[in-house]
Amino acid sequence: MPSYVDPAKCDGCKGGDKTACMYICPNDLMVLDKVSMKAYNQEPDGCWECYSCVKICPQGAIFVRGYDDFVPMGGQVHPMRSADSIMWTVKFRNGALKRFKFPIRTTAEGAANAYVGAAGASLDDERLLLEGELPTPK
Ligand code: SF4
Ligand code: SF4
Repeated sequence: MPSYVDPAKCDGCKGGDKTACMYICPNDLMVLDKVSMKAYNQEPDGCWECYSCVKICPQGAIFVRGYDDFVPMGGQVHPMRSADSIMWTVKFRNGALKRFKFPIRTTAEGAANAYVGAAGASLDDERLLLEGELPTPK
């Protein structure tokens, strides 16, 4: 199910030109209604349920139904970000709650380099990064 903005919670990011959900959506789906100052998903069929808008919304106003493989039918899942972790809250249809806390990466933006430590690695090499280090089958 695509993202859904709860209008009771959305404050339009307090009137900024580009709201947090508009900034983060990789598919440019979120727009702000300038009259009501509430955001909404302008093309639900184009939403791939990536949760980026859910995680960045400062009001916790956006919901996405979790994938069936990790959320029970009829349940809800909602992530809450902090500086070093994300707390996932799962609400079952019988009202039961479960919470799971996971650390988030702290690598500075733009600093990640997958090739550090792999001497001789090259994007032009057709082999996988560690392929040369695997033992040769006999
Ligand atoms: Fe509303 Fe949240 Fe989007 Fe801001 S990020 S406009 S509060 S839904
Ligand atoms: Fe965009 Fe992802 Fe939010 Fe869907 S879940 S509206 S693709 S940011």
